[in-house]
Amino acid sequence: MERICPHCGKSSNITPFVGEWCAPCTLERQRKGWPNEMELKQCPTCKRVYREREWKHLDAKTISDLVARPFEKLGLIGHYNIEASQWEGIFDEKGGKIAYTHPFVIDYTEHMCPNCGRIGSSYHEAIIQLRGDPARVERAKKRIIRRLERRTFLQDVAPMHGGVDIQVGEKKDVPDLLRLEGHKFVRTEKLMGEKNGKPLLRSTFLIRLEKIEDKKDAAEITESSDEKE
Ligand SMILES: [Zn+2]
Ligand SMILES: [Zn+2]
Repeated sequence: MERICPHCGKSSNITPFVGEWCAPCTLERQRKGWPNEMELKQCPTCKRVYREREWKHLDAKTISDLVARPFEKLGLIGHYNIEASQWEGIFDEKGGKIAYTHPFVIDYTEHMCPNCGRIGSSYHEAIIQLRGDPARVERAKKRIIRRLERRTFLQDVAPMHGGVDIQVGEKKDVPDLLRLEGHKFVRTEKLMGEKNGKPLLRSTFLIRLEKIEDKKDAAEITESSDEKE
């Protein structure tokens, strides 16, 4: 039996139908609720993008996967074409199979990441001092730096007598990060000056990595905050 689409007037003799409407009109109606854009914060200097509380370089595949998420949530099959800024999908319901494209723009807004924002100054809130067995110091340094770079910025990594000093931009994540790495540390605070009427403290985290004889590091955590310049 012939049906007429109430929206465009086409006959079921020339176009497939999905329920009451022809397939193209059904597709048009559904896509009104689909997303068209996504905002990403990007650092204009290093081009890293802020995602899941980290600044990182996103490759094309990661971006495509990111865009695909909301579409897949809607049960749609397809992929994101970055060059063309469009979602390319197949509308497939009983009655009609239509290849379609749907515009989707990634809106990059410029935000200076903390790393680039402070390069050039010697600003750092913490120093991680690694001392002891050179091989262990080297291993620990690499792991700590890798973790730090995902969260904050490094001002400097300097070899020191008996080890290495890592100057860290922001200190708030440092204690957790060191615990995560299984390090025991001695923390001291040094008064650097004042900022908005509050004392500005620089924290030093001293970690001793002795040559492994028995497995455990010396367990010692102390805090003191009265050491002046
Ligand atoms: Zn129609
Ligand atoms: Zn940057």
